[in-house]
Amino acid sequence: MMERKELTLFIKSEAARVGFDACGIAKATAVDEETVAFIEGWTKEGKHGTMHYLERNCEKRYDPTLLVEGCRSIIVVALNYTPKRAIEGISNYAQGSDYHKAVKERLYMLLKSINEKIPCQGRAFCDSAPVLERYWAVQSGLGWIGRNRQLIIPGKGSCFFIGELIVDIELEYDEPYRQSHCGNCNKCIDNCPTGALKREGFDARECLSYLTIEYRGELPENIGEKMGNCFYGCDRCQAVCPHNRFATPNDTAELQPKPELIRMNAEKWRTLTKEQYNVLFSGSAVERCGYEQLMRNIKECKDSKK
Ligand code: SF4
Ligand code: SF4
Repeated sequence: MMERKELTLFIKSEAARVGFDACGIAKATAVDEETVAFIEGWTKEGKHGTMHYLERNCEKRYDPTLLVEGCRSIIVVALNYTPKRAIEGISNYAQGSDYHKAVKERLYMLLKSINEKIPCQGRAFCDSAPVLERYWAVQSGLGWIGRNRQLIIPGKGSCFFIGELIVDIELEYDEPYRQSHCGNCNKCIDNCPTGALKREGFDARECLSYLTIEYRGELPENIGEKMGNCFYGCDRCQAVCPHNRFATPNDTAELQPKPELIRMNAEKWRTLTKEQYNVLFSGSAVERCGYEQLMRNIKECKDSKK
């Protein structure tokens, strides 16, 4: 049987082989008290808006050993989504097929590889369970959380999906990433069109990503000016981040936009039918925002009113 160190190196090389751009490993333990207090305070103030799922399963969220019985280690991976060619109006992360599937399929390939070396039980997650993904990414040494609230991987930027394989084997653990390289920069805060990002914190209720994707009610008045041409999500606090200068376009087949999406234009968006929506977005993360909500956004979008 492989030694722990050798197995850890094998897992990291397999993570790269199946397509991940970074991999770090943390010991599965309860989340630190400071993080719990921060999240509790944030939700108590209602800054999570209507994302009530954040109020549920807190015990599991704060302790992954309650989520996956018998787990010992959290293997954290990152998959680049920087687009080669971005379709205007749609956030970079949603240009291709649903990322949950793309990440989890690769995580299960990784679990299969591990099982060829050692018996191992594990569960794969990607934005699909109460797991504090960015916290674990920092704990596993992948990078730091920028003032834009995103994980930033040194030398690679912030356009990454995060996934976790929570397993029942002991491994060698990475040191948490303790530095921030934001320095005196405040570009993300200064360029946030709604003021959702503030020096003193983040309020999801004002964020265009929340409003266009998660929020089902009527959009605030005059939000269209702030949306610009973006009707699904918002990338501005990432676009201005100097650490994304080093980002390279992804070459993951499933994350590329469909040809039908590439052929869209402002007029076609304005007159999109339910049938066309189904063709464009079946198997895409955009399905989270149903047809009616997407049309609500498109109508509000400044560029739709030209
Ligand atoms: S996604 Fe857009 S609206 Fe939300 S915090 Fe970032 S810049 Fe602000
Ligand atoms: S834009 Fe500047 S402050 Fe914001 S996350 Fe990037 S480096 Fe940090």
